[in-house]
Order: sequence, then C-alpha cells, then structure tokens
Amino acid sequence: MSIGDVEAVVIGGGAAGVAAGRRLFQAGIKCLVVEARGRLGGRAWTVASPAGFALDLGCGWLHSANRNPWVQVAEEQHRTIDRTPPPWTRPSLVLGFPPDRQREFRREQEAFFARVSERAQREPDVPAANLLVPNDPWNGLINAIGTYISGAELDHVSARDFDNYEDTGVNWRVVEGYGTTIASAGAHLPAVFDCPVQCIEHSGKRLKIETAKGIINADQAIITLPTTVLADEELFTPALPEKTEAARNLPLGLADKLFMSLERAEEFESDSRLFGATDRTATATYHLRPFGRPLIEAYFGGRLAHDLEASGERAFFDFALSELTARLGNAFAARVKPIHLHRWGADPFARGSYSYALPGMVACREKLAAPVDDRLFFAGEACSSGDFSTAHGGFFTGTKAADQLIATRAQTLNV
Ligand SMILES: Cc1cc2nc3c(=O)[nH]c(=O)nc-3n(C[C@H](O)[C@H](O)[C@H](O)COP(=O)(O)OP(=O)(O)OC[C@H]3O[C@@H](n4cnc5c(N)ncnc54)[C@H](O)[C@@H]3O)c2cc1C
Repeated sequence: MSIGDVEAVVIGGGAAGVAAGRRLFQAGIKCLVVEARGRLGGRAWTVASPAGFALDLGCGWLHSANRNPWVQVAEEQHRTIDRTPPPWTRPSLVLGFPPDRQREFRREQEAFFARVSERAQREPDVPAANLLVPNDPWNGLINAIGTYISGAELDHVSARDFDNYEDTGVNWRVVEGYGTTIASAGAHLPAVFDCPVQCIEHSGKRLKIETAKGIINADQAIITLPTTVLADEELFTPALPEKTEAARNLPLGLADKLFMSLERAEEFESDSRLFGATDRTATATYHLRPFGRPLIEAYFGGRLAHDLEASGERAFFDFALSELTARLGNAFAARVKPIHLHRWGADPFARGSYSYALPGMVACREKLAAPVDDRLFFAGEACSSGDFSTAHGGFFTGTKAADQLIATRAQTLNV
C-alpha cells in the first residue's frame, strides 16, 4: 500500500531531521518526515516533572551557544534562554573534594587534554586512554568525565576524534526545554509518526521506502538515523556496506540522566555539582538545583550506565542514593525521590546516547556523511566532524544534507 509520493523524504525526525525538513520546506520541496516514534525530537526530549518543570531527558545544554543555531530558533519561539555558566566550569561542592584537591584535579585534567591534542596531530591515532599517566590517582575521575563526554571509557575512544570536538566554551539552556524547542521547530512539517522505516530500495528510477505503515515513493531521501540503527539493520537494498561499516565504527556511547526531587534544597547553591566519588570511573555526577529548582539531575555514563540499565530503572536510584548518602549522611535518603529516567540504551530507536569514533576511525564521519548517487543524503550528529554528539551537530548536518539535495535537484531539473 502506498502512503505517500513526495519529492524528498526525511527519515528520522530528530534534530537533524527537523533541520533538514525545515530547509526543504522553505525551498518549496514537497517533503515528508518519516519518524518511528510518536513525536519529533529523537534524542532531544523534554518531559514535565510532577511540579511542572521541563526536564530534558536527552540534550539539555546549548553547547557552543554563541554559534549554536538552535539559540536563534529558541529565541524565535520566545523561549527563555538561561545563561548561567554550567557547573563543570565552576568549582564543585567541597564535600569530600576540598578546593586544593579540585585545583590539583583540574591541572591534571588540563594536562591530559593537552597531551590528547598533541598526540592527535601524529600518526597513528590511538585510544585516548593511552594519554593517561599510568597509575595517576586522578585517572579514575578523568575517565569518569570521559564517560560523560563520550558515553564510553577512554580506552574505546579515538584520541583524534576526542580532540576534533569543537567547543567554544559557551553553554546555555532553554528553561522550557531543548527537546521542546526542537520538536516545536518541526511542528509545521508534513510528517508521519509511529512509522519505522524497514527498507530503502534505491535500485529503481525512484526510491521506494518501505515502512510499518506502507510504501512511500520519493525522488530523494535524507537519512538521519542513529549509527546504531544503521549498523544493526540492513535497511538499504541494494546494501550499502560502506555505510554499515562507517556506522559500526561510530558507535553510540551511553549516558543516562535520572531526575530526583530534593527536599530542603536551599541548603545547596543553585546549579552546583557533586561527584559521587573522585577516585573511580564508575561514579555519577550530581547537578544540584538545576535552574535553582528543588531537583537533582544525576548523570551516568559508559559501563556504569550499561550495568545499571541491565539491572532495571530502580538500580539508578539505588546507586545514586548509595553515593549521595556516603557523601551527605544516611538521613539524606529521606530527602530525595526519583522522578524521571530514560534508558537510552534500551530505547529501540536510539540504542545509545551520542557517537564517538573508535581509534583510527575518524574518517568514518565523512564517509557516513557522503551522498550516494545524488539521491541518498546523510545527516545526524555522527556525520559532523567537529560538532558530533550534539543537537547543533544534528542541525548543521541536516541543513547541509538538505542543501546538497536542493543543489542536485536544481542541476537535474536545470532550474
Ligand atoms: C542523556 C543525553 C544527554 C545529552 N546532552 C546533550 C547536551 O547537553 N547538548 C547537546 O547538544 N547534545 C546532547 N545530547 C546529544 C543529542 O541529544 C543528540 O546528539 C542529538 O539529539 C541527535 O540528533 P540526531 O537528529 O542526529 O539523532 P536522533 O535524535 O536520534 O534522531 C534520529 C531519529 O530517527 C528516528 N528513527 C530511528 N529508527 C528509525 C526508523 N527505522 N525509521 C524512522 N525513524 C527512525 C528516531 O526515533 C529519531 O527521532 C545528549 C543525549 C543524551 C541521550
């Protein structure tokens, strides 16, 4: 059964798909966004807490905010941009981590980043963990932060890719939610929901997209699927082994957030941070009173997140409670309650949180992004060489793929 006939189909309605769809729509191209979930946004997802706060279960920070195009989109939607510097740029709580130890840690971490940068210029590429100083007491915490940045321990991550990430150091937030902003930006686009794509047939004159709801015929397509989906499923007929291989070399690391309510929150400074532990990798970081709200946002990455996901939702809260009570005393347990968690690894349409390149595989980002036959175009955070793992990386690659599509259309149609 045919459910659509369009000039361009956008597969996946996350940050990249929304940005691509907006560009095509503006250019007057008859397009359709095909999304497996019942909503737009993908890994950008805002939910409401019982008290009515907007909680971002996926992306929350407008990283590189001074060049992040979602800022303008949020402003056009009359959203409230919060410019409070993020907790990781300021000292953490002194509990169990006195200021002189924090300064020592920062020095060690900066020195590690500098060694990664220096090594990234030379062949061959190596795992970022090779740049840790053997037996340094800060390795556990440097690695823990690596799991928040990449979703994986540093021994899995390419040093060159780690260094390629372009960060202006300006980080803002949207009070009403990053996920809400991205989903609203695509609300006017023609879209079909609850409609996973099962096959992209590209041997004929026109594309035939098989979905759970029927077939869509199209001239061209922009594919914005997470690398996990591209790596695990043979979606293309004929197969595109170079895409499958590129996607496999750009796995999604895992990071999960748990939101908890906090009683007598005023005891803590707004937007402050506490590490569960400073001497190991398997630890969460706790963002206290985000936006000044009576909440704690716990962040779990890498193997720890995988292990907790395998043990079920409750395991996240139990782990957080064990770390928080170790720092703040047993009575603290009565002041916190779990509110929201999303297990991104168990999410069938994400299967992880954000991409990193395996050692030696940096070129896969360009390989993944390369168009096929001037009619299959690729976007998504993993296609970005410098803004990967972010929602603005999704925006840039989505817009670029749409521009490529528009340019080839203009050539073919000679307009
Ligand atoms: C916990 C967490 C914290 C994060 N924090 C930040 C942050 O602070 N700042 C930041 O910039 N980024 C952050 N990110 C990363 C950011 O959310 C992602 O990089 C970005 O949203 C990815 O956008 P995308 O369009 O490339 O992919 P996605 O959002 O994954 O979009 C792909 C879409 O394809 C759909 N799909 C999947 N399979 C199919 C199928 N078969 N058929 C049709 N559709 C399908 C999916 O449902 C999805 O909507 C975070 C992510 C997580 C999980």
